Amino acid sequence: MTLALSHAEMVRLLGLSDPAQIEDLRRAAYDRATATVGDAVHYRGIVELSNRCALDCYYCGIRRSNLAIERYGLDRDEVVEAAMFCAEAGYGSCVLQAGERRDEGFVAFVEECVAEIRARSLSERLPRGLGITLSLGEQSLDTYRRWRAAGAHRYLLRIETSNPALFASLHPPAQRFETRVQALDDLRTAGFQVGTGVMIGLPGQTLDDLAADIAFYGERDIDMIGMGPYLHSQGGAMPAAAMMAKDPLLFLGLKMIAVTRLALPTLNIAATTALQALVEDGRERGISFGANVTMPNVTPRGVRRNYQLYDGKPCLDEGSLECRGCLERRVIAAGRRVGWDEWGDSPHARLRLPDSIQA
Ligand code: SF4
Repeated sequence: MTLALSHAEMVRLLGLSDPAQIEDLRRAAYDRATATVGDAVHYRGIVELSNRCALDCYYCGIRRSNLAIERYGLDRDEVVEAAMFCAEAGYGSCVLQAGERRDEGFVAFVEECVAEIRARSLSERLPRGLGITLSLGEQSLDTYRRWRAAGAHRYLLRIETSNPALFASLHPPAQRFETRVQALDDLRTAGFQVGTGVMIGLPGQTLDDLAADIAFYGERDIDMIGMGPYLHSQGGAMPAAAMMAKDPLLFLGLKMIAVTRLALPTLNIAATTALQALVEDGRERGISFGANVTMPNVTPRGVRRNYQLYDGKPCLDEGSLECRGCLERRVIAAGRRVGWDEWGDSPHARLRLPDSIQA
């Protein structure tokens, strides 16, 4: 996919500090979103189905080596029930997210959940059933094919950074950059709409790195983006002092959304919860800087506290219904409407993979 901005222009925009110039950037990205992805914001209700993880990413609060949290796994009925809330609440799509596991028991469990959600969510309002995104890490091509055949049609696998050296500083040696890139390619082969994203404000990260991240999205022909500020986690292995100060971090995150929108206008871009961890209206701000997707949490409240990838995660105690109303107010405050009962695939995905829109 060709970028609409040069590397130098992206670096310049990411480095803006004058409030009037940042406002011009925001306005341009917002208008570009209106013209390319429309005025609707689409919901994907997140079901955090398990915090068990076989991996050990240094930045993550639920990594394997963190022995201070209680591990949980929802059963099939709990997963399906949370997804059915999304269908009934008009969300149109859900995301099944968990720590990374590749054992057959887990793979088959996800396969069954996906098939049941698609079958049970068929209705007049959702004639194709609920749209299902998976965010379950690196898996084999065979596993991706099984989950795709079961009825999931989008997959989010974050690269975290497109700089291999920076990637190596965030992960144990066994977790390799090349393997992550291969997994993104395998997802395309399996017929998924593919999402990725990065952490913004990582220790040692430069504006050149961030501009290269946007170029990476274009080179890999990515359909959707979920990226957010790097936030420290007490359960991680990185020093708290390595996190940027909140204000500049927030603005860097927002500028990254805006520049991505201008460079790659037809992608879906999420206003992630991590923005709201920095400031109460973080998600509205993300939308006003060009994002068009948001992900309310529909995980049962009893276990939500145990799924914290970073400190300060918001909305731990809100019920799913409260969340629905609160988020709608946020979307309207950002001058958008909610795309109720729609899958809301990106225009880029609709062109690239017309068959996946039907499936
Ligand atoms: S980021 Fe994902 S894969 Fe890495 S430790 Fe956390 S849950 Fe596991």
